[in-house]
Amino acid sequence: MRMIGLIGGMSWESSAEYYRLLNEGARARLGATASARCLLWSFDFAEIEALQHAGDWSRLTERMVDAARRLEAAGTDLLLICTNTMHRMASDVQSAVAIPLIHIADPTAERIVAAGFRKVGLLGTAFTMEHDFYKGRLTELYGLEVIVPDADDRATVHRIIYDELVAGRIEPASREAYRAVIARLVDVGAEAVILGCTEIMLLVRQEDSAVPIFDTTAIHADAALDHALATDARIDAAQRTIT
Ligand code: GLU
Repeated sequence: MRMIGLIGGMSWESSAEYYRLLNEGARARLGATASARCLLWSFDFAEIEALQHAGDWSRLTERMVDAARRLEAAGTDLLLICTNTMHRMASDVQSAVAIPLIHIADPTAERIVAAGFRKVGLLGTAFTMEHDFYKGRLTELYGLEVIVPDADDRATVHRIIYDELVAGRIEPASREAYRAVIARLVDVGAEAVILGCTEIMLLVRQEDSAVPIFDTTAIHADAALDHALATDARIDAAQRTIT
């Protein structure tokens, strides 16, 4: 199995889920005592979110590139950025290393397209819902139509991520709020909903949505195992599509 490099700690609540999912996935694929070969670079999220809210994306890009280079130098064969938001600088990270970066939106979109959906709701941080780096990739590379919540709902979704989920708080009232936001996305035509923040799966399950949900944390971890276990030819092909 190839060594998976995880750029994580954003937040550690979701990185712990990645670690669990990778190991459970390795066990399911390879046998009871198998576990995932991986290395985790874990940031202090307090520093990261302060830079995000200050809009200092160039300093954040330097941090992500530095982590990617360290993981590559330490011997990892592929990289995951364990947050949707920090895919804003995915192309800078990919250009800085020779190993493939598995973009979180790609396996997510591939599964949505394979399931036959075209119009999808997107939940995530305000950065993910409002900036173009994520929606644009879904639209331009996969032909998806992306619907985001209205401004009030976006503020609610963002606040719950930063005030509660990254702090390890799972509140029933917030689950109700997310259920209502999802229902409004369905009302305006969403055929499926992307949990486009790696902590949302801690709060929201399939039973909270009338349409299928696509959990980026689980999908990303599963895609990493696909790559870690793929033949060289498949890795080469994947890398060609990534770059
Ligand atoms: N983990 C979240 C995401 O997937 C939010 C934390 C962050 O801003 O990195 O976007």
